[in-house]
Parts: sequence; C-alpha cells; structure tokens
Amino acid sequence: MKITIFGSASGIPEKGRAQTCIGLESNGRMILLDIGEGATSSIYADGVELDKIEKVFISHTHADHFIGLPRLLQFMKWKKRKKPLEIYLPSKHIDAVEKFLPFLYIFRERFDFEYKFLPLPKDEIFIFESLKMKIFPTQHLKKYQKFAETYGVETNSYGFLIEEISNDGTGAKKFLFSSDIYSVDEVKNYFEGLDLLLIECAHIEIEDIIDAVSDFEIPKIILTHVAPEKDLTTMLDYARMKFDMNIELACDGMKIEL
Ligand SMILES: [Zn+2]
Repeated sequence: MKITIFGSASGIPEKGRAQTCIGLESNGRMILLDIGEGATSSIYADGVELDKIEKVFISHTHADHFIGLPRLLQFMKWKKRKKPLEIYLPSKHIDAVEKFLPFLYIFRERFDFEYKFLPLPKDEIFIFESLKMKIFPTQHLKKYQKFAETYGVETNSYGFLIEEISNDGTGAKKFLFSSDIYSVDEVKNYFEGLDLLLIECAHIEIEDIIDAVSDFEIPKIILTHVAPEKDLTTMLDYARMKFDMNIELACDGMKIEL
C-alpha cells in the first residue's frame, strides 16, 4: 500500500501546510482518512487522479479533520466525476452534514456522481478485496461529554488500523493512523505487528509515545499533527539514539510505501 500525507498540520493554521488528510492507495484504488482545511488543494498539488478516490473516512468532525469535504465534493464536480463516492462519518452526524451541504450551495441534483454518507463501520471490514480495516473508538472528545446530549453529538473520535493482504495471500502489511486521541494507551493495544505507525502529537506528549512504542518493534514511526510551537528535536534524537527508532515528523506530500 502507498500512503501519502496530504495534510500534516495540527488544528493551528500553518503557512504551506494543510490540516489532517491521509491518502491510502492499494492496487490503484484510494481512500482518504480525514479531510481537514486545505486538504483538497494538497490533493490537487500532488496530482492525484480524483477518480482513484473511492471512499472518505472521517474520524471526527472537528474542522481540522472534516472541513475540507465540501471543497473536495466541489472539486470532483468541477472535474466532471461520474464515479460514486462513499463518505463514512460518525453516525450521529450524518443527518446534520446532509442538511448543511445545501447551505454551501452543494446540491445533489447538480452533481454527475452520487455521493453517499454512511456510518463508520463498527466491525472489521474489507474496504477493498485487498484492504481490511478496523475502526476503533478513542476518547479525544470526552471533554464534550456534558454537551453531547444537548446537541446530539458523538463523544467518540476514531482511529484506523489497516491491513493490506498481498495479492498472493502470503503476507500482510499493517498500518495504524491514530487520528486525534486522548492517551497513547488507547492505541497501544494495536501496536503489535505494525509496519507503520502514524500517530498524532498535539494532544499527547512525545515522551509518552516513545515510552509506549519502545515496547514494540515498529519499523517506522511518523508523528503528525504537531503544534508549530512544539520543538521535538531533542526527544526525536533521544528516541533514535536510545531505542534505535526510525521516527520522524510528517510533512505534506510525504509518501511511504509498505
Ligand atoms: Zn485535530
């Protein structure tokens, strides 16, 4: 599988960086994990053939993970897309998003392709024949608990564990994208056997990540969603020297092939 980081910024705007968006390609078919502000421009800059994108998964609807969606839809319309698009969201938010889009003058009737909103699957699913995905809840939004009932919003964000089965069925590659989390412990259960860990570093400390990761042998670790004021150089050097970790910071346009 080929992973492209289209947006690596945290929730704070940064010059030249889009907010969270990860493209994952397997056998020429692509999915997106989150689509924050600026991500559509980043996808365009990368020269992605839009028809490749078949599904979009949104971990939670904070603007830095979601607000790029209307622009992606408009860009696809402008490119005269015909192929249907599936958009997976936390289930409670589907109705509100569907009602909101017409206020951005996005009207289904004017599109040459069908876009469909679906709830994030609770069970492990095959998103393509070669790609298995497990979406697991995390506690990033738990501070909103007391508002959840009043506003009918979800209190879970979600992380993604993806496994690509090779064409001959012999091997598998495993990738985890945490999206936003509350604690490393929520994702640590999934570290075993990973080939790539892409983990946010805005809401948790790098020390906690290094500590958790040092119990496993993960060949590649990338930190994303790092706030601009955070200087992680010393800790990155420490992780490399003490634990021989292959750890680095994400940037827009970064590509990893597993
Ligand atoms: Zn975020």
